[in-house]
Amino acid sequence: MPDFDVVVIGGGVAGFAAAVRSAELGKSVAIVEKDLIGGECLNRACIPSKTLVDAAKLVFRASKSTFMTGSFSVNYSAIQDQKDKVISSLRAGLAQTLEKHGVKVIRGTASVSREGEASVNGQTITYSHLVIATGSVPISLPDFPLNGRNVLDPWTAMNLRSLPDNIVIVGGGVAGVELATLFRALGKNVTVIELMPQLLPGFDKDVAELTKKRLEERDVRVYLNTKSKIVKADERVEFEAQTPSGIERIAGELAVITIGRKAFTGGLDLKAIGVETDQRGYVKVDETARTTNPKVYAAGDVAGMPLSATKAVKQGLVAGDNIGGKASRMPKYIPTSIFADLEIGVVGQTLEQALKEGEAKEIVVRMSEVPRAWTLGETEGFLKLVIDSKGLIKGAHMIGEGATEVVNAITIAMETGIPVFELYRIQFSHPTVSEVIEEAIQRAVVGEVF
Ligand SMILES: Cc1cc2nc3c(=O)[nH]c(=O)nc-3n(C[C@H](O)[C@H](O)[C@H](O)COP(=O)(O)OP(=O)(O)OC[C@H]3O[C@@H](n4cnc5c(N)ncnc54)[C@H](O)[C@@H]3O)c2cc1C
Repeated sequence: MPDFDVVVIGGGVAGFAAAVRSAELGKSVAIVEKDLIGGECLNRACIPSKTLVDAAKLVFRASKSTFMTGSFSVNYSAIQDQKDKVISSLRAGLAQTLEKHGVKVIRGTASVSREGEASVNGQTITYSHLVIATGSVPISLPDFPLNGRNVLDPWTAMNLRSLPDNIVIVGGGVAGVELATLFRALGKNVTVIELMPQLLPGFDKDVAELTKKRLEERDVRVYLNTKSKIVKADERVEFEAQTPSGIERIAGELAVITIGRKAFTGGLDLKAIGVETDQRGYVKVDETARTTNPKVYAAGDVAGMPLSATKAVKQGLVAGDNIGGKASRMPKYIPTSIFADLEIGVVGQTLEQALKEGEAKEIVVRMSEVPRAWTLGETEGFLKLVIDSKGLIKGAHMIGEGATEVVNAITIAMETGIPVFELYRIQFSHPTVSEVIEEAIQRAVVGEVF
């Protein structure tokens, strides 16, 4: 008889969700974590970055408001304290939940070299099912060598108690844009260097363009189509940048490198347990989070794109469900939220992608057409709703105040397959940001009202 029905390796959000759900379904579960329960998202990524961005945005908006008189200064150390408090409160909540469900937490690094067994702290534990939830680690490239001093990964940079005046961010993806928002709101001079022709590569072009415009309006320097490398890192970090108009030297006192992440499977002999990976090193899983070994599941960043806590939690739950005997599959749609100066919420296809599959149209509603945007004092942005010939929403791309919440409501309609003709019956409360959805549906079904 094995020691546990389920052993989960990795106590990030994916592993946590898998452990709790399989315990809820009656399994005996152990979770092995070498560092902190909550993993990257809680301790180093989503929660700390959003706590800092929200605080910095609040201060920035107050400082620019015409309603304010006099001057004030920011106590960044107090913002950092608040971030640490948020993290430890949420982490304590996770620990309580694991305890409540009888999940045994084992501190240590797990290695696996044989089916049904894991080794932790020199001890062997046996199990019927394994969940691999070991997450991802930042990619490091020779052109951007991290030095723990002034060339840093996002987490280390976010944890600095004081920041220098000039900061260069390499990578204009989600993390790069959020960090640029944060540092600029704190009054720093910020430069973003992106290799691709747009910020937020892979996202809707108009969303990316407006994000760039907003950053530039706040005096963030944005280089696109620019290949760069660090050529010097002493008191200052110097870059040689191949911009579209020639070679430039760019310098700052701090460089933050946000060039992507890769799966982490250190210590796991995947071959020995019949678990295959794809060409990029992510563990291959099906819709039920099962790997190529039916007794082994994988969830979260280690199991591939998108690398988001949003997906990681769901995949963990799906793994837990299936291990616990409750058939479940990954949803079709995973929304993405970006906490930039203007929030972004995205789910599903762009118009171009939808057109490849058949007839589709795009309805655009500007935030300036939504009364709540005016009461909030933030009328920039838009929602694009992509709708197919059956009236099904295939995608939504929103930039504007509240977009990170609005996208969830649209995801409900998409996942449940409710066509716009039926959604048309639904009345939204007024004045709210999500009336932008109501207006888009009105326009799709009967035409413009406002
Ligand atoms: C700056 C930044 C901001 C982000 N913001 C967001 C956001 O707003 N929303 C969002 O959805 N996503 C966001 N993400 C992505 C999100 O953080 C990750 O997708 C998520 O944390 C992945 O969770 P996971 O459980 O798969 O892996 P992880 O959180 O990496 O957890 C894996 C855990 O496994 C442990 N582990 C690994 N190997 C072993 C072993 N052999 N033995 C024991 N323990 C082991 C690790 O210590 C770690 O705790 C952000 C990422 C970054 C970098």
